[in-house]
Amino acid sequence: MITIQALGVSEGLVKANAFVLRQPALDVSKRAVTDVAAEQARVDDAIERAKQQIEQLMAAAGGEQAEILDAHLMMLDDPDFSDGMKDIIAAESVCAEYACKVNCENFQQMFRAMDDEYMQARAADIGDISDRVQRVLQKVDDDPLDGIDAPCIVVASDLTPSDTAKIGSKPVWGFITQIGGRTSHSAIMARSMGLPAAAGAGERARLIENGDAILLDGCSGAIVVNPDAATEEAFDRKKAQFDEQRRMLEQYRAQPGATADGHRVVIEGNIGTPADAMRVDEVGGEGIGLFRSEFLFMDRADLPGEQEQFEAYRQVAQTMTGRPVIIRTLDIGGDKEVPALALEKEQNPFLGYRAIRICLDREELFLTQLRALLRASAFGDIRIMFPMISSLEEVRSAKAMVEKAKEQLKNEGVAFNEAIKLGIMIEIPVAAICADILAKEVDFFSIGTNDLIQYSCAVDRINDKLAALYRPLHPGVLRLIKMAADAARENGIDCGVCGEMAGSRGMASVLCGLGVTHLSMSASSILAAKNDLAHHSYEDCVRLASSLLGGVSATENESQLV
Ligand code: PEP
Ligand code: MG
Repeated sequence: MITIQALGVSEGLVKANAFVLRQPALDVSKRAVTDVAAEQARVDDAIERAKQQIEQLMAAAGGEQAEILDAHLMMLDDPDFSDGMKDIIAAESVCAEYACKVNCENFQQMFRAMDDEYMQARAADIGDISDRVQRVLQKVDDDPLDGIDAPCIVVASDLTPSDTAKIGSKPVWGFITQIGGRTSHSAIMARSMGLPAAAGAGERARLIENGDAILLDGCSGAIVVNPDAATEEAFDRKKAQFDEQRRMLEQYRAQPGATADGHRVVIEGNIGTPADAMRVDEVGGEGIGLFRSEFLFMDRADLPGEQEQFEAYRQVAQTMTGRPVIIRTLDIGGDKEVPALALEKEQNPFLGYRAIRICLDREELFLTQLRALLRASAFGDIRIMFPMISSLEEVRSAKAMVEKAKEQLKNEGVAFNEAIKLGIMIEIPVAAICADILAKEVDFFSIGTNDLIQYSCAVDRINDKLAALYRPLHPGVLRLIKMAADAARENGIDCGVCGEMAGSRGMASVLCGLGVTHLSMSASSILAAKNDLAHHSYEDCVRLASSLLGGVSATENESQLV
């Protein structure tokens, strides 16, 4: 029996056998070869095999996916692509793997240098195609997740959003990652999918072998490998208690969020895909407080067009039947990549070219999204939220773009909600400090505590070595939240919290006491947040919040709450 202590990032207790996901490392080192012709023949064979793979995928694909695959096929058929590799082999007497890597870089550079945004985006396709050829050359399986056909707990170094999405269609009962924390995107997706998960298991996760029996506690992060009978019995008892607690919370499903004495706090859900909205609806969410629209843009080689985006936004509005739906405009960068934008790698991605900064820089991209959002606003109470706001100028520029999109639609005679509400995320410390200025410009605030804590404490939110320094109850963080909530109240606008803090155990009452009016969280936390509020009077909440605000350290504050 082995025990591993990780971070519980998605609640629930589950037992199943391990499916260990090992992504084989690709070797692209420069190896000298003597038989140049044989190496060039390997290129021809690999391209042929890659084409067969794509043709097989195309048989099952439809619509846009089939079009992308077709474009990949054309690229593989283009003699310039294969000759590029063969020329490198001939010129330098090097192996096909190295030639494939250099050829890919050359093509990507050429596409990125083009003026046309569409052609720039093709750089991502080249990456995809070369990766496929590279895997064939190295005889590496296409996707290890395809091998899952029985209930299991996935154990991986890390999971990309596309891995996590794929897991949703497999009999996966939970997952464990070596790296990451509560706010990494795989953890956020696990919570929306209601899948128990633990992150940051570290090197000890390597001790887990395929097929080992695993007990996973997604609440505490405790993992037991090949448990003895007594440990398994104790786990079963804890699981029964947890399931019972879940049943008890059912009573809050149809109730609006409120303290015991009726002070209202609206409890909404965070989603990444239109399908997630159904889970929020099922557990009695009072709206969508955050739709991370960037998930529509990730894990694909092209950008979603206006019509595709419109349909996704409309679907959420219709699922929520008149309740508010806050859709955040594209928030990429940090740990979220959009291959089609072919953004350069940066030294400090969380502080870099991301979110609203990209949207204000690329008018076409932003206008397409704003037009889709406005069109969908004819079908429900859609509200638009801008992420990563650090200045008044950004807010004004973003609003001007909304005006431009409105003007275009008006001229085209397309229906939309003229009075659509516009809000901003408060997730950069200067935005909280200047909340009194920003509140005069918008209809609502939503505090993104994931980034607010990251930036104010200078702690990378996905670095598990720093997890102990990431402190939501740091008095400095609480003061920033209070500043934003005060400014919102004084200016008569709503102030929500949509970072993970909103759905963390016991935080609903604290945030209510700080003056927050809306809380948005993963569907799996909604009932517990309503339960927390229902067990406190508003006065209790205010007393608790002011006592934490007066705390001298996060440690002291955390001890107050246990
Ligand atoms: C946040 O920063 O708190 C937030 C909700 O946004 P994201 O986690 O997507 O950065
Ligand atoms: Mg954020």
